[in-house]
Order: sequence, then structure tokens, then C-alpha cells
Amino acid sequence: MKKELLFLISTALSVSAFAQDTKMENSNDPKATEIWSPEPKVVTSGKLPQDAPSDAIVLFGGRNLDAWHSVNNPAQPAKWTVDDGFFTVKKGTGNIETNKKFTDYQLHLEWKIPSNITGEGQARGNSGVFLASTGPGDDGYEIQIMDAYNNKTYVNGQTGSVYKQVIPLANANKKPGEWQYYDILWTAPRFNDDGSLKSPAAVTVFLNGVVLENHFVLTGATRYIGKPEYKAHGPSSIKLQDHGDPSPAISFRNIWVREL
Ligand code: MG
Repeated sequence: MKKELLFLISTALSVSAFAQDTKMENSNDPKATEIWSPEPKVVTSGKLPQDAPSDAIVLFGGRNLDAWHSVNNPAQPAKWTVDDGFFTVKKGTGNIETNKKFTDYQLHLEWKIPSNITGEGQARGNSGVFLASTGPGDDGYEIQIMDAYNNKTYVNGQTGSVYKQVIPLANANKKPGEWQYYDILWTAPRFNDDGSLKSPAAVTVFLNGVVLENHFVLTGATRYIGKPEYKAHGPSSIKLQDHGDPSPAISFRNIWVREL
């Protein structure tokens, strides 16, 4: 008798909960599906699409490389050449990376292949942005930068590829001599205490407003030879590559980042 009573009560409660859910789902009240908090923070956009928003950290605003250092010698400032409003790779001085370390972020970066570019394949305006510099040299996760306007190379190594991991969805390269811009969303990988991978990195890449990678999930850090591989790391610098080709060096300007 007691059991039956309990059964009846629990059934009644389930029916009531179901009725409540159904009421929510079938409600004609638009308020039933409104969410009012937390409110997204107010951010003021730049006047032009490429201008830094109000809460961005400016990594290069046109005057100096104070936010960067040499990868080969972290105690030294970046030795690339600064001109009025832009800077250029100084070949042989090595990669440069940000003093500040980041985890998840939105990055804006503009670059230009010189109009007198020479060379072919990978040896034509090659640089790159490493979304997390995890050590010296080319350690990290590279989004390729090179002249891929009218220049054949392996497609998983052309501009917009996560180098040797994925083919970009489009070739949106502009002609040498024209400024181009990357907008990148980076979700850093997470690691367990024992160094094993907890969650992989993911990246979304726009070049000149065209999507080249759509939340691509990386299988590891960039490797020139062999398969990508994860090695545990924490917050990391953003790094730019001195590829060392004899072709004329490429330039950068207007670099800013918003931490997420
Ligand atoms: Mg490169």
C-alpha cells in the first residue's frame, strides 16, 4: 500500500515536471527563451575595421618593437628594422616573440610581401606567425605567411595553412606590394598535471576578410619533419618567423591582440 502511494506520488511529480518542461517548450511567451545576464562587456570598435578596439593590447602600433624580444637571445630587444608605421624582418637576426604570454585570444596582424619579391615555392616571402611559441627556433603552432598569390607550393604549407596540418579553405592572397591582414581566433591546448593532453588547440583564420580555417582542431605543434605532436606548455608568446631566404624581406604593421 505504502509502495503504491510512493509510486503514485513520484509519477505525479514526474508528470508535473514533464508538464512544466512542455509548457516552457510550447510557451507562446517569447520571454521564456530570453537570457538577460551576464551582459557582454562594452567594447568600442575602431573607426576602420582594422583599427584596434578599445580593450586590445597593441603589440605594434607603428613606432617601436618594445613589446617584442629576440628569440635567440630573450634578454635582447627584437632587432628587426622599424620604419615609419611598419617593421621589416632583418634576415639573420632570428625569430622575434612577444614579451607578454597569452592563452586564448583574438589576433589582428597586417603584413606585406615586397613588390620586388623573388624566389619560388616556400622560398618566396616566407615568414609565419606562431600562435604559441613553445621554445626556441620554430617551436610552436605556425600559421604560414608567404607569397602564395601566384606561386605554387605544397598546399598544406601555403599562406593560411596551419603548417603541414591543414589546407586553407581558399587562396585569398593579394598581390605582392599590397598590405594584407590576418584575423585569428586561437584556443590554446590544455594539459593535465602529468603532461598529457586535456583538450587540443583550435584555430579560426581570416585572411583579408575571407575565412581560411574554420575552427580547425590541431593534432599537435608544427613539425617540419614528421607528424605534429603535443608537448605540455602554459601561456606562451606570439612569435614571428625569420625564415632566412634570400628573397626580399617581408614587413608587418598594426598588430593587436584581445585576450579571451
Ligand atoms: Mg613560415
